[in-house]
Amino acid sequence: MAVPKRKTNQARKLKRRAHDALAPIRYSKCTRCNSLTLPHSICDNCGTYRGRTLLAVEDF
Ligand SMILES: [Zn+2]
Repeated sequence: MAVPKRKTNQARKLKRRAHDALAPIRYSKCTRCNSLTLPHSICDNCGTYRGRTLLAVEDF
């Protein structure tokens, strides 16, 4: 098994982890009801995707 020759110092470790941050979740707006939805997915509020109604959503 490959074994590191030298100990990784703190600066090197932190530089490597500079790119590990999680990106924030991005939302897109529904074209029919203007609520926030995840991109490329059916709207939870009205059940449409790209102008077509694909899910019957019960109104409360
Ligand atoms: Zn909608």
